[in-house]
Amino acid sequence: MNLSTSEVQKFKKRLMGMSQDLEKQVTELESKPADFGDDVDAMDEEKNEAEAFGSQLGVAQALRERLANVLSALQKIEKGVYGVCEKCQGQIEPSILDVDPETRFCKACKLARR
Ligand SMILES: [Zn+2]
Repeated sequence: MNLSTSEVQKFKKRLMGMSQDLEKQVTELESKPADFGDDVDAMDEEKNEAEAFGSQLGVAQALRERLANVLSALQKIEKGVYGVCEKCQGQIEPSILDVDPETRFCKACKLARR
C-alpha cells in the first residue's frame, strides 16, 4: 500500500516543523549551560552546572540524531520514496509513521533490530 500525495504532504509539514523545533532545541542546548541561580554554594553550583551541561550535550546529541533522521525523511519525500523501509524496502505501516514520521524502518525490521 502506498501513501497518497496528501498523506505525504501532511507528513512533510510535520517533519518540517519537527526539524525547525529540533534545530532550535539543539542550538539552545549547545549554547548555554544550565544556570542554577545564586542560592547554591558557589563550588557546588559550578560542579552542578558542569554536570548539567554535560547531560545537556547528551540530550543535544540525541536530538541531533533525531534531526538527521527527520532531514533524511524529508529528502526521501523529495525523491518520492518516503515511507519505504530502508531494510526490506517494504511499505512502512502508516500507524508507525503517524507516531514516528522520521522512522526509517517498518515495524518488523524495527523489532528485528533489537
Ligand atoms: Zn522493513
